[in-house]
Amino acid sequence: MTWLITGGAGYIGAHVVSQAANSGLKTFVVDDLSTGISTRLKSEIELRKFSLQDTSSLQALFQEHDFEGVVHIAAKKRVGESVERPDYYWQENVVGYQNLLGVMAKHDVKNLVFSSSAAVYGEPNESSDSLISESTMCSPINPYGETKLECERLSEAFSGETGAKVISLRYFNVAGAGRPDLGDQYIFNLIPIVFDALDRGQQPQVFGNDYETIDGTCVRDYVHVQDLAKAHMDAMEHVVTAQPFYLPINIGTGYGASVAQVLAMISEVTGQKIDPIVAPRRQGDPASLVADVSRAAEILNWNSEQGLREIVSSAWDAWQLSHK
Ligand code: UDP
Repeated sequence: MTWLITGGAGYIGAHVVSQAANSGLKTFVVDDLSTGISTRLKSEIELRKFSLQDTSSLQALFQEHDFEGVVHIAAKKRVGESVERPDYYWQENVVGYQNLLGVMAKHDVKNLVFSSSAAVYGEPNESSDSLISESTMCSPINPYGETKLECERLSEAFSGETGAKVISLRYFNVAGAGRPDLGDQYIFNLIPIVFDALDRGQQPQVFGNDYETIDGTCVRDYVHVQDLAKAHMDAMEHVVTAQPFYLPINIGTGYGASVAQVLAMISEVTGQKIDPIVAPRRQGDPASLVADVSRAAEILNWNSEQGLREIVSSAWDAWQLSHK
């Protein structure tokens, strides 16, 4: 049977679709192509272009297909933009998801994997060397994180009301590429921002070097998008056989890398000298965000396999392909 992947033409979605195809799983993609790119998908993957705001297209699709389950990845994900346009983010991320859940309920589709984010945690109070577990209090600090937390609440309610089996995967810092043509085309996160600066002959900026971390720069948990895609496969497999439940699961590596360490790795991989400019702290940046990944290991038998070197080198290969 077929799984519906919303946002399947996006950076993360296309990795999920590609891995599903490699493991013999049939997928059908819905994407409004606002940030997704249809050429990321092999020609045999069925793609329908519409927004989840369009309930009648959703209804029609579920009438035509008997979906085994849904992986809901489609969303707006730019933190800064969410601060400028909170209502738009609510409409796109929350209302779009409500539409999807309504149609799933009507058609009795009970297997669901939802793309959440470590943004639900906000700025955790824990000391900077402690890991973030799923029981860490959720307290988002921007509208993007608020929409993800609200969608998690909707997911839990959906499970309670319909008997659905639902996993929310809380992504930490996703980067890298499974294939060069599947790379992240946008310049919103640290690694592509640094590549872009190097291409322009500029030095990258480090937002703050006086945090209480190993070298003063912020620490994050960078997880390879290919490992993340595998976590989706494992979550899909798990929900199908499970009893009704709702569970958030962190997806990271359990290891942190500081901005300075990421820059050092980029310098090593690209062979370019990096002498960063120290800029003031960026508002709302916690010193350290590293996942406790024990639940993913316990429930999904999932562990990340790739490290920072593989992340940076695969991201660099993808960057060079798309910025030739
Ligand atoms: N960062 C930086 N310089 C940049 C972009 C990001 O020092 O030009 C830092 C940022 O402060 C954070 C880390 O890199 O500590 C990762 O930032 P990103 O925006 O990629 O992800 P976030 O963790 O904010 O979701």
